[in-house]
Amino acid sequence: MNQRDTVHDIAVVGGGAAGTLTALRLLHHAAVPVRIWLINPGPAGRGLAFGTEAPHHLLNVPAGRMSAHRDDPGHFTRWLGDRAGEHDFVPRGLFGRYLADSLAEAGHRADAPDLIRVHDRVVGLTHRPAATGAPLRLRLAGGQSLDFAAAVLALGNFAPGTAWAPPALRDSAAFLADPWTPGALDAVPEDRDVLLVGTGLTMVDMALSLRRPGRVVHALSRHGLVPQPHATVPVPTVAAPDLDALAAGAGLAGLRRAVLCHIARCRRVHGDWRAGVDSLRSVTSALWQQLPPADRARLLAEDLRLWETHRHRIPPVSANALRAAVDADQVRTGRGTVAGAEPAGPPGGGLDVRLDDGRRLRVGAVLNCTGSEVNLTRVDDPLVTELLTTGLGTPNPIGGGFLTDPDGRLRPADSLTPAPLWTLGSLRRGSLLETTAIPEIRCQADDLALLMLDRAALALAGEGAPAR
Ligand SMILES: Cc1cc2nc3c(=O)[nH]c(=O)nc-3n(C[C@H](O)[C@H](O)[C@H](O)COP(=O)(O)OP(=O)(O)OC[C@H]3O[C@@H](n4cnc5c(N)ncnc54)[C@H](O)[C@@H]3O)c2cc1C
Repeated sequence: MNQRDTVHDIAVVGGGAAGTLTALRLLHHAAVPVRIWLINPGPAGRGLAFGTEAPHHLLNVPAGRMSAHRDDPGHFTRWLGDRAGEHDFVPRGLFGRYLADSLAEAGHRADAPDLIRVHDRVVGLTHRPAATGAPLRLRLAGGQSLDFAAAVLALGNFAPGTAWAPPALRDSAAFLADPWTPGALDAVPEDRDVLLVGTGLTMVDMALSLRRPGRVVHALSRHGLVPQPHATVPVPTVAAPDLDALAAGAGLAGLRRAVLCHIARCRRVHGDWRAGVDSLRSVTSALWQQLPPADRARLLAEDLRLWETHRHRIPPVSANALRAAVDADQVRTGRGTVAGAEPAGPPGGGLDVRLDDGRRLRVGAVLNCTGSEVNLTRVDDPLVTELLTTGLGTPNPIGGGFLTDPDGRLRPADSLTPAPLWTLGSLRRGSLLETTAIPEIRCQADDLALLMLDRAALALAGEGAPAR
């Protein structure tokens, strides 16, 4: 591929929702000659959450809050037209199509900068601080190398970790290590029970896909907590509580007390605990950052699941379908961890799974619904491994993802010059905690687009991109 050096080349690595939103906002704001490269193996806008075409895999955020543009909240609902209203939970595949359409439309505008799509995977990256103009060299799986002024890493959700699974389970053909792999569910035998390990959002989708008469879908996790449903009518919007008052208790114990009091008060005044939980969203990152590291680690171990099941809720229609499946004994949810597994009879006969409380389950398949691996040192991805090995990125020891500056720039290992590399979304989880859903990601994407373009303007004016 021929790269000229008269314009500023910006790479967006990853074309799920986060990368697509970043490219979209770069196109939206660009007023200087830049070229935007969107590097992603598959089609843009889909990624993990929005690639599904199952009609019962619904957005867990109402359509009215899913606009791609922070400054145009009605953009998605206008795109939906008469297909749905602002309070509806529409199929996630529709949202993926909306993102792809929005990007294509923005790219076709007469005054739009070039958007170059590269259908490949970035497998390595070199920083050459002395190479002015394009100090980043990205290596692609297909063998090409491309040079850039800056890059946004929108790598998103990694495959779930498998460290919890006993070796006999990990090695079994009946173990689906990543149920989101296209076609993975085809391997589930029709006539057998199934075990889902993990009871979060992925479990809900998988249980609703796999439930049927004559089969029991067992869904287990250490805590057994299942996502709460959204209210059937919109809950009142409550202003964020005063941050100083919430943090005044100092430390995790004080924060727990203050948060519970706040939610109880909202429930009394507004009739629904959800108003209180939702009002905390805009201050969650600040509260997280105020906690000492030991308290943050305790929060992850002791509070996160409870928080997430109330914060990341499921649409009422999904909750009703799950409840009906539980009532019909097609789905059983509860506490439990896998202690062991062995083949049940001849090959293809499924697995006998032993649980920590001594129970045994005979199942045709075990699905890993434990969610994306957040610990980068355990992620099996050549680009991440290279970033950690070279020190251009450092893992966040608490909460996962990379250590980042407040603007999302990767913090390198001590002695290294920071590379012009930024990230967003789940890769900032340890820094922000609240960072994985579209309402947060679209703001980060917009901020990054503006930052990239400011840097481009400076560089193209001959002043060079800022040293940091
Ligand atoms: C089941 C489920 C349902 C969800 N539902 C919602 C919802 O309704 N609303 C909401 O706001 N959020 C939802 N989320 C949160 C969701 O994770 C994010 O909104 C969204 O997926 C984030 O997109 P992303 O681009 O960061 O990650 P991903 O969707 O994981 O996309 C990352 C992309 O980067 C590509 N990539 C990775 N590495 C490289 C590389 N080295 N080179 C090139 N490309 C690379 C991948 O192939 C992929 O296309 C849901 C999450 C899950 C798991």
